[in-house]
Amino acid sequence: MLSKKIKQAMAGSSAIRAMFMEGKEMAARYGAENVYDFSLGNPATPAPEKIKTAIYDILDKEDPLVVHGYMANAGYEEVREAIAENLNERFGTNFHGKNLIMTVGAAGGLNIIFKTILDPGNEVMVFAPYFGEYKSYAANFDAKIVEVMPNEADFMPDLADFERKITKDTRAVIINNPNNPTGVVYSDATLKEIARILTAKEEEFGTDIYLISDEPYRELVYDGVQENFLTKYYKDTLVGYSFSKSLSLPGERIGYVVVPDEAADSAELIEGITVSNRTLGFVNAPSLIQKAVAECLKEKTNLEFYDRNRIALYEGLTKLGFTCIKPQGAFYLWLKSPVAKEEEFVEAAKKYHLILVKGSAFGYGGYVRLAYCTSYETVVNSMQAFAKLAAEYGL
Ligand code: PLP
Repeated sequence: MLSKKIKQAMAGSSAIRAMFMEGKEMAARYGAENVYDFSLGNPATPAPEKIKTAIYDILDKEDPLVVHGYMANAGYEEVREAIAENLNERFGTNFHGKNLIMTVGAAGGLNIIFKTILDPGNEVMVFAPYFGEYKSYAANFDAKIVEVMPNEADFMPDLADFERKITKDTRAVIINNPNNPTGVVYSDATLKEIARILTAKEEEFGTDIYLISDEPYRELVYDGVQENFLTKYYKDTLVGYSFSKSLSLPGERIGYVVVPDEAADSAELIEGITVSNRTLGFVNAPSLIQKAVAECLKEKTNLEFYDRNRIALYEGLTKLGFTCIKPQGAFYLWLKSPVAKEEEFVEAAKKYHLILVKGSAFGYGGYVRLAYCTSYETVVNSMQAFAKLAAEYGL
């Protein structure tokens, strides 16, 4: 006997994972080199060498009872202090270790925030298109997802729609910058306007509305775009960060949440989020990798690797006649389907061994997502397949 909730979750299970599995089957049938899998956001450039040396060093030099032991539910104090200091240096903030809770990736971070702030029926706003798992995370706490539509010209949120849809039950707004699936980076003007609207609505309804900044792609920006940090725009901002993409460590499950002092009910929130970390079953973020990332806060992933893919893919596809949003961040490209039902387009692409993900998996149909965290060869060799696909649609 399965619960009603999990039955629902199973029925709506991830389209991204399904495409990834299909890509794997295709690779077994036709050879991996003949399949162009753009489905999953799994980094394709390895973690910096320093991660490995830091792990060896920690294992060599530190007491195993500490390295492998339980610690405070929020994580090792010195790790949280080191991250706070690094953020303060980079973004002019004023955090202390106490403002941070180490988490099991961004997914763990979002879930502990949700558990702490959401009652059944509360509303969580998302800017479409959005990371589909937000729906599952909100469902975990019986909250309702409210979708805000984008402007199709640039895939920035339609702020009039945003303002209209905020209610007295709005508890949180998730913003994902740089964005999965569009690759868009929110402009300073957009962020200021979001902050202005939220401040006005908090006043109108006499409520606190948390802006949850989900930023696993914070450092993945191109074309000279600057890394951004949202707490400076709006006081009730909570940050969820992950090292999954920025240091290519998705399997290690490590990230953190920041609760600034100026956020409403800050001290209680930190306490609540820490309790949620324990009671959701994580207990604490994995110990060894906590210590390792603290040694690697100045390390960077190989941005040139993703940038080369980004340019090759964007230029190649637009030359073939496809319409794409030029990505400036993360490692995704958002492409307009030549037919309204993008599921048909995704099916047609499979004939040429191209694995794409339908936009409706991100709450926005008519588009598909390509994850270009693949090898450069995959991008280059896929172009003859995309040419056939373009010809099929008369582009
Ligand atoms: N948020 C967004 C926007 C993502 O794209 C992902 C992963 O792809 C996550 C959260 C979850 O990241 P993590 O692996 O750190 O849990």
